[in-house]
Amino acid sequence: MRYRIIASGSTGNSIYIGTDQYHFLVDAGLSGKKVERGLKEIGVNPKELTGILVTHEHDDHIRGIGVLARKYQIPIYANERTFNALPSQVGKIDDSLKRMIETGSVIEFGDFQIESFPISHDAADPVGFLFRNKDLQLSIVTDSGYISEKIKEKIKGSDVFIFEANHDVEMLRMSRYPWSVKQRILGDYGHLSNEASGEALADVITNDTQKVFLAHLSRENNLPEIARLTVQTILKEYGITEKDVQIMDTYHDKPTALEELKEKRVRILF
Ligand SMILES: [Zn+2]
Ligand SMILES: [Zn+2]
Repeated sequence: MRYRIIASGSTGNSIYIGTDQYHFLVDAGLSGKKVERGLKEIGVNPKELTGILVTHEHDDHIRGIGVLARKYQIPIYANERTFNALPSQVGKIDDSLKRMIETGSVIEFGDFQIESFPISHDAADPVGFLFRNKDLQLSIVTDSGYISEKIKEKIKGSDVFIFEANHDVEMLRMSRYPWSVKQRILGDYGHLSNEASGEALADVITNDTQKVFLAHLSRENNLPEIARLTVQTILKEYGITEKDVQIMDTYHDKPTALEELKEKRVRILF
């Protein structure tokens, strides 16, 4: 399984996950052009996309989905309430390209299984995604003000986590954001702080976990160094060190490297 975070942050989100046969995007909250570039650089023609899975209808997750769906005839996967809540800027998505998925259901493509699960955010029916391929598991949780025990159970022991570390609470409190916006971000239906991210990760990281990508960082109220240091410090308190799990950055303005996740069976043999 290969993956690359094309962009992550309050200004736009898109994640590529694929194999030789299947190619998915989770969200396309950037211009169609930026998504195309992020794919072409790793040798994926947007035409080959199996589908775009949508977590929720906020602009930073859906900006490019209409353009891409129309240009390349890419199916869009989302739950019904998310489809109904898509803003008009997305433009028309042909009914033939709409694939309704129920929150909590599993969809299968060859040996890929993709499961959606509810998260805690102020959108119509927001979800996280869990990708399974052979013995590998990658989970994506961003835009969640709170990580419930149910979510933790679902994602525990993933090989890779793409996990929100949105803000430093002090930076947010001191910021010039209006009070109502601060309340929204800090609330249970807002975004996950660095501290809350570290605490939740400590509960879901196991010996199987290789990498954690800190995602959806606020440009105003966070810094990659602060996010990483906060999460690492908390994990260390639980006995999880950099030797056990690599903490990786994501970027709002450039993609991460293309990562390859090898089957464990193969990893043990070589
Ligand atoms: Zn977002
Ligand atoms: Zn959102």
